Amino acid sequence: MHNHIPFKELLAEPKKLVLTIHLNPDADALGSALGFARVLRKKGHEVVIVSPNSFPDFLKWMQGWEQVLLYDKNPEAARSALAQADVVFSMDYSALKRGGDVGEEIKKSKAVKAIIDHHREPENYAQAMQWSIEAGATCELVYDLLVELGWEKLLDKEAGECLYAGIMTDTGGFRHPNTTQHIHQIVASLMGIGVDVAKVSKLIYDTNTVNRIKLLGFALSQRLHVLTEYNVAYIYLSAKDLASFHAQKGDTEGLVNYALSIKGIVMAALFTEKDQMIKMSFRSVGNFSVNEFARTNFDGGGHTNAAGGVSKELSLEAVIDKFEKLLPNYKTALTKKDE
Ligand code: 5GP
Ligand code: MN
Repeated sequence: MHNHIPFKELLAEPKKLVLTIHLNPDADALGSALGFARVLRKKGHEVVIVSPNSFPDFLKWMQGWEQVLLYDKNPEAARSALAQADVVFSMDYSALKRGGDVGEEIKKSKAVKAIIDHHREPENYAQAMQWSIEAGATCELVYDLLVELGWEKLLDKEAGECLYAGIMTDTGGFRHPNTTQHIHQIVASLMGIGVDVAKVSKLIYDTNTVNRIKLLGFALSQRLHVLTEYNVAYIYLSAKDLASFHAQKGDTEGLVNYALSIKGIVMAALFTEKDQMIKMSFRSVGNFSVNEFARTNFDGGGHTNAAGGVSKELSLEAVIDKFEKLLPNYKTALTKKDE
């Protein structure tokens, strides 16, 4: 085991730090990095945030988002930051593949590696780790780490709103089973430093474009398939579908939850054709592990009730066909009564 450097020691003196986040960053990835970075800078650290690619517009209010280096747009600057780093963090991911090209750079890097994450089955490449699958969000782990370090007093409203955004979205707006007493206690503390929860909620959930709402309507009326026999529902959107609604990055986020919200559905999936790849999102309720399902069949992963994957080889039709043909193998698990 190499996960032996305590963060207290690692961050005792000002250093050059690079916080990296996963491909197609969500609020938890971006929020955990931006919130943490703000505190680290107050302790004298030099911090650069590197993302493999861009993030949805509904996250472009978080303090500092404009300074995030996008590897796909600006590889030289990102590489140079990584080359100079003393410590490189993986925020909200712990499998280098999830970092895309940034993950490849980390593999080559001589910097100390650190992971702050809550995904299952982390890879063993870090010397420092704040990791727990019990955590609802990486932003929760950042908050806990700041408390451990005695630095929570350095959290300001702006950093707090970044952390709050990750916690709110990764718990599905405090509705998923990962919503704990501890999470609510953190949120209470964040409100204590001025975090405006109504504002953050509005910025994330209620800034839809008309096109996005129309895409939602189209997806639900034309692209939703319910396989009652298996308690499975899925939605698919082709590149053409997405183009006809001028879909922007993030427009399909949350769509899979509509399929999951149907009474009796145990597993829901969303298949989207984007950038010559098929992106898959899986969700489940109860004990059925979509992490395992995605890992075994689609080289993906995530959490028990929320996972994803990508296929670069198969067409949209082929992915859906493979998905449907797998279901008989899972019929018992999908149709058994949990409680
Ligand atoms: P989403 O469906 O919202 O993109 O992702 C749901 C969960 O699965 C997230 O926790 C995310 O990190 C994980 N996930 C999404 N896509 C992939 C993937 O391609 N590979 C792996 N290993 N995990 C993924
Ligand atoms: Mn997360």
